[in-house]
Amino acid sequence: MLAPSPTRRTITTLVAALFVIVSGATYTVQPGDTLSEIAVENGTTVRALVEKNNLPNANRIYVGQKLNLPAASASGATATHIVQSGESLSTIASRYGLTVAELAAANGITNTNVVYIGTKLSLSGPVSDFTPGSGSAGAHVVAKGDTLGKIAAAYGTTTSALAELNGLANPNLIRIGQVLAVPGGGWICPVPGGTYFNDYGFPRTGGRFHEGTDLFATRGTPVLAPVSGRVEFTIGTIGGMQYKLYGDDGATYIGSHMDSFGTAGNVTAGTVIGSVGDSGNAKGSRTHLHFEIHPDDGAAVNPYPYLQDACR
Ligand SMILES: [Zn+2]
Repeated sequence: MLAPSPTRRTITTLVAALFVIVSGATYTVQPGDTLSEIAVENGTTVRALVEKNNLPNANRIYVGQKLNLPAASASGATATHIVQSGESLSTIASRYGLTVAELAAANGITNTNVVYIGTKLSLSGPVSDFTPGSGSAGAHVVAKGDTLGKIAAAYGTTTSALAELNGLANPNLIRIGQVLAVPGGGWICPVPGGTYFNDYGFPRTGGRFHEGTDLFATRGTPVLAPVSGRVEFTIGTIGGMQYKLYGDDGATYIGSHMDSFGTAGNVTAGTVIGSVGDSGNAKGSRTHLHFEIHPDDGAAVNPYPYLQDACR
């Protein structure tokens, strides 16, 4: 009799976990809800909701309507674990036949000693074919202490090439906050100067989970497009003044609770697409941008590692 291979065991455990999640998750439509908002809040897509509920028209849902929530997302990230009291990343990892490194990578966790009770962890691997910023026209937001020489070195180019690319008459004259075109791909901080921590997967009311990272900054702080792409705006009861950026890197970016809208339509990385606020269900709370990344318009991934690379 052959013992089941570790891989087989892992898959069996994952499938068991998946069935727990599949069982009868529904959402009751609230006044002011749109299908796209419901999709965002529940980590799924409009298309998946339409299919799951046989909706003839995605724009026609009614208050009180019960929607079945699809368990599987477009990118297939489904199996999850809710952190219980007494658990550590290491006990959870061994329970599912994963290593701490694998579990940390799948959840954008950089400090493996810290995990909070109630946090939803993904048990599937990171989205391998998603390279943030690839295909995006590169941009760099000038930070305090930057010189054109320093920026040029960081992007593997020269001061004169950068000056020419940006039509700078005087390479010594750049100002903090200025957006410079840089060669190659790029992913820039959505709220330069904002503060944030790894709050992805934190529990929220109504059995929901935090599908993004909050970037805290004072009201009116510019919100920038992290990559080039196409921007659309919506106003909803939950997300308030919200942008959706269909990035040239293949990901859909969502930013919520803004105070104002900026440029819509086709944008380059670094374009001001709004400002930080507290609109929607964040009214009266500390002003912030709720920020999500959905590779291939599928399930959300943790923005935290990308923010750590791009924000200073
Ligand atoms: Zn948030």
